[in-house]
Amino acid sequence: MTWSNWSGTVTATPRQVVAPVDAAAAAGVLARAVDSGRKVRPLGSGHSFSPIGQPTDIAVSVAALAGVRDHNLANGRVWVGAGTRLSHLNRALDTLGLALPNLGDIDRQTIAGAVATGTHGTGLGLFGIAAAVVGVELATASGEVLRCRPGDGTFEAARINLGALGIVSALELQTVPAFRLRAVEEQLPLAEVLADPHGFAASADHAEFFWFPHADTVATRRNHRDGADGDPLPRWREVLDDEVVTNGVFGLVNRVGAAAPRLVPSLNRLSARVMGSRTYTDRSHRVFCSPRRVRFVESEYAVPLDAVAAVLRELRAWYDRTRAPIQFPVEVRFVAADDVWLSGAYGRATAYVAVHQYAGSPVGESFDVFERIVAEHDGRPHWGKQHSLGVDRLREVHPRLDDFLAVRDRLDPARVLANPHLERILGA
Ligand SMILES: Cc1cc2nc3c(=O)[nH]c(=O)nc-3n(C[C@H](O)[C@H](O)[C@H](O)COP(=O)(O)OP(=O)(O)OC[C@H]3O[C@@H](n4cnc5c(N)ncnc54)[C@H](O)[C@@H]3O)c2cc1C
Repeated sequence: MTWSNWSGTVTATPRQVVAPVDAAAAAGVLARAVDSGRKVRPLGSGHSFSPIGQPTDIAVSVAALAGVRDHNLANGRVWVGAGTRLSHLNRALDTLGLALPNLGDIDRQTIAGAVATGTHGTGLGLFGIAAAVVGVELATASGEVLRCRPGDGTFEAARINLGALGIVSALELQTVPAFRLRAVEEQLPLAEVLADPHGFAASADHAEFFWFPHADTVATRRNHRDGADGDPLPRWREVLDDEVVTNGVFGLVNRVGAAAPRLVPSLNRLSARVMGSRTYTDRSHRVFCSPRRVRFVESEYAVPLDAVAAVLRELRAWYDRTRAPIQFPVEVRFVAADDVWLSGAYGRATAYVAVHQYAGSPVGESFDVFERIVAEHDGRPHWGKQHSLGVDRLREVHPRLDDFLAVRDRLDPARVLANPHLERILGA
């Protein structure tokens, strides 16, 4: 088997692929690997840009551990198999009249992979997906299966676990009643948004914006949970927007920019203008998630909300000065402070700033420059996206990293779950 991540930047040929049918079998895989001195990597859907999911020896597919296992409509709690894709989960929850409180912008990931790396959407009063986890079923290297609960000394580390503590076989999620969103998309001047980022973030339940380097405007997306009646996009408009404009035309524009980088500033201003205005209402997961077919690479950092305008201004100055041919927009999202140990938003209201580049074009210095800028603002990298930090720097920005490492020492003393990337970010 040849393994590759979504963006095609990380590949591997694991020596063996196994597919346990339940948590006990997963624990057995780990225990035998410890005995034989081998390494194990649980597989999600490979949507991380960083090499965190790279399987070097035994790759563990949790595809057989999928689907809603149990649900309680009285309290909205649902046990789901680790390998459940978000797309399937969203539909299954909808059928039960439930939904996840917040989502990112795609639904291809597995729930275990999304939780393990701290996947998030946007919403100043809301949290990332891991904050909805209330129970974790974890197969460990000692051959045991733990049912982790808040306060038990393991749960706090087992939410954003980086795949470093064991094989998650199932997760219990706190859902909310299914809800509809009114989506309002429009252009605003960049200067207006940067003059009051907090006001912008607070202007909707879920506010975000996209800024094409070299353009003066941003494309804003604001989703309101106000229960308003309204119509979804007609199917033809959905296809036109998602497939033709967002994926088809945008893919073409990127191929032109890759071939002629000096055209990128003009192409970006054109792309910014094409992202027009629209308003529609639909079920929450249909508004949050959309297809991404143009491949790209990405780095994303969480910075304190108060720092976001400075970060964007510094980035802009560098892009303008160098005419950097960066073809993908910078994306800015917001989340509330949370208590998840390795969350980017641990203990602080947060803006997530993401920089991208078309997968067919060089990143050049741009990600390094971005990292230098966010370092000045105590930036914390998204675990599933490209970054260059090692354990020493991560310890400075993540106040609970040592607590996490102590749980790792207890659950995986032999480092059966190590890969080269985890050794860099967590130590050997
Ligand atoms: C197009 C695109 C859009 C994206 N949009 C967003 C977004 O809106 N917001 C956001 O925050 N992120 C986003 N991401 C990043 C993505 O959500 C994360 O990288 C996520 O981890 C990917 O999930 P996965 O199932 O592919 O996991 P993988 O990338 O396959 O694995 C991630 C980690 O989880 C571990 N893991 C997986 N399953 C298990 C298990 N059962 N037990 C223990 N460990 C396990 C893996 O070993 C690995 O360490 C996006 C990525 C792409 C490619």
